[in-house]
Amino acid sequence: MTNCIFCKIISGEISSLKIYEDDLTIAFMDIARDVDGHVLVIPKTHCKNILDCNSTLLNAVMQTVQKLSVHFTENCGYDGVNLLNASDESAGQSVPHFHIHIIPRKNDDGIDAWPKFGGAKQDVQKIYEQLKLL
Ligand code: 5GP
Ligand code: ZN
Repeated sequence: MTNCIFCKIISGEISSLKIYEDDLTIAFMDIARDVDGHVLVIPKTHCKNILDCNSTLLNAVMQTVQKLSVHFTENCGYDGVNLLNASDESAGQSVPHFHIHIIPRKNDDGIDAWPKFGGAKQDVQKIYEQLKLL
């Protein structure tokens, strides 16, 4: 897609610190400098997010996420990972090309990667009836 930052990273028009690549995916360091080791995994074919990504690309992205997560923990001195994704602007997505954030974690690194939600407002049974797919 012409105006997509991540498509430009795939084509090389925008440079990146690429840490992994295969036929369907690439992974590179996030530019934000917000936390050490912040990595993004993306499909090489443009889709916006989990809502429109086809199953081939989705599977490829998740396989790369797992491969890197295992690499980080087995070979790079980390103990675990947080995986983050925002799908749609309503969820905070700022770059409209599907991506999974990986944050490598160490025991006692002090990073708080879990959002502060502020508490549920509605009855759980009501939300359950709205959300269930049974
Ligand atoms: P989102 O807010 O969509 O979940 O995440 C988008 C991420 O892309 C952000 O963490 C942001 O720092 C990162 N990002 C935006 N532009 C660039 C860029 O040009 N290069 C790299 N490496 N990361 C970028
Ligand atoms: Zn794109």
